[in-house]
Amino acid sequence: MAVFLVIAFAMSAAVAGAVTVVHRLRRWQSPLSGVNTFMGAGTAVLALLNTVQLLLSDPVTAWLVATAGGLASTAVTASVFCLSRTVADRAWRVTPRALALLSIEPAATAVAMLTNPWHHHFFTGFHPAGPEGGLLPVLGWAFWLHSAYIYSLLTVSFVLVVRARRQAPPDRREIHDWTIAAFAPPIAANIAALALPDPTVDLTSVGLAVTMVIAYGALTRSLPQQQIQVALEQVFDTISDAVGVVDRSGRILNVNASARTLLRRAGLPDQVQGMSLAEIPGFGFFLAEDAGTEQEVTDVMGRGVDLHVRTNVLRDRRDECIGWVLVARDVTEARRRRDEAEEANVRLREQLETIEALRAGLAEQAVRDPLTGLYNRRRLMEVLTEETRRATEAYTPLSLALIDVDHFKQINDTYGHGDGDTVLVQIARMLVGEVRHDDVVARYGGEEFVLVLPGATAEAAWERVDALRERIKETPVSVEGGLLSVTFSAGVATLSLEAWSPADLLRIADEALYEAKRLGRDRVERGVPRPPGAAGAGSGAAA
Ligand code: GH3
Ligand code: MG
Ligand code: MG
Repeated sequence: MAVFLVIAFAMSAAVAGAVTVVHRLRRWQSPLSGVNTFMGAGTAVLALLNTVQLLLSDPVTAWLVATAGGLASTAVTASVFCLSRTVADRAWRVTPRALALLSIEPAATAVAMLTNPWHHHFFTGFHPAGPEGGLLPVLGWAFWLHSAYIYSLLTVSFVLVVRARRQAPPDRREIHDWTIAAFAPPIAANIAALALPDPTVDLTSVGLAVTMVIAYGALTRSLPQQQIQVALEQVFDTISDAVGVVDRSGRILNVNASARTLLRRAGLPDQVQGMSLAEIPGFGFFLAEDAGTEQEVTDVMGRGVDLHVRTNVLRDRRDECIGWVLVARDVTEARRRRDEAEEANVRLREQLETIEALRAGLAEQAVRDPLTGLYNRRRLMEVLTEETRRATEAYTPLSLALIDVDHFKQINDTYGHGDGDTVLVQIARMLVGEVRHDDVVARYGGEEFVLVLPGATAEAAWERVDALRERIKETPVSVEGGLLSVTFSAGVATLSLEAWSPADLLRIADEALYEAKRLGRDRVERGVPRPPGAAGAGSGAAA
């Protein structure tokens, strides 16, 4: 019996070892390959220890070998779990955290087994395997606790694969079927062990050796698909846009490297696989089952990250929505540049408006007399030219009055230049206040003003200017030195066949003004068209 068992264990060790070596040599690009190698090595060691156990007679060595065997079996169990998780979830990897969690129970078991001679709770003793030799442990309660853990982990692994198989599309179930089949040999070996004369002999390693052969077959068969999977994942990770796959319930199935980077930038956890989209705060976009969408998500989590998110509906063969592919592009930088450009535009527009206002101000200044704010002589000539042309074309009357303040020199001499200025400003204000909307008032020189009166005939012009004279004479002007009564003299000229140019009008008005001065001041005289230089023509009313 023992001989038969020795041969069975030794052969198992050889088979598992061979499969391990092949796995190592082939260097397959598959996440399953690493797990399989580890499992094969564990199985080979376990089977070898089982062999040795049957050849021993020394209790101390038997205890050490049983301890090593116990550890090898926990290592194999952990690798079965990893294998099942990898099969159930292609994206799952043996992370340091997973390794640490899976090491807790083996570490406790190792301590319990190594301290067994002092408490005898793991192995209560050793009994001969048979007449040919060998010492097998008698198992204590701690061993059964450890077995319960192992069988629980195996059950979880099995359930994971079965559940993943149910969720997988029918044409993707082969790997699950192989994995489920791989569970069968160790279970069968355990049942077979019950039939042995000594049921404490553990045949699991024999079953596991068969499992390794099945796993090898599964891997070689699924390898092309696995390699495609690996290649696709690599491509997935090299896409610069953040890509995520979400199932119909909103659960995140996979995200690429760019998506993880983006999540970190937004201050979110980057391990979001398995999480629901709703659990990730700050991603306020919607998923529509009937069509893809394009959305902007601004200032994600208040971190100033702006995204452009495109959603594409994933459909099965019956055209039913089974989830979405989300493609998010970080548009923060582009948006920032656009905002900056817009701001620069606004600033430029404001500057242009300022420049335009300054230019208009300057243009206005250029045509205004600084003291009175009236049009200056340059602007007067432009206005007069324009009004003359318009009146000539439209056959409408146009008159002009040249006004000169009487005895202004005296005002200056008596009250000072400052008060003289005040008088000029007050008269200008009164003139502007009295004339009509279309009339133009300009400062012609020192204390001389010109009124352009479109539409006014000679008589109307005379009457209006004379009324003005009366008003100003009756309105005392307030200066620092007191109240002053100011008068003016004026000459009026009207557009006619004999006086048809601005120069004619000004000359005739000047002659009339001279006449007004001559006749005693404080009066308005009508200009008489005369050829320049004709008798009676005078000049010099203007200083
Ligand atoms: P008339 O009645 O004959 O016109 O006598 P008038 O004193 O008004 O005439 P005149 O041409 O002799 O003197 C004009 C004075 O106006 C001379 C000049 O000093 C003064 N004047 C010219 N421009 C200004 C100014 O901007 N401010 C002040 N305060 N005086 C001015
Ligand atoms: Mg004067
Ligand atoms: Mg004068």
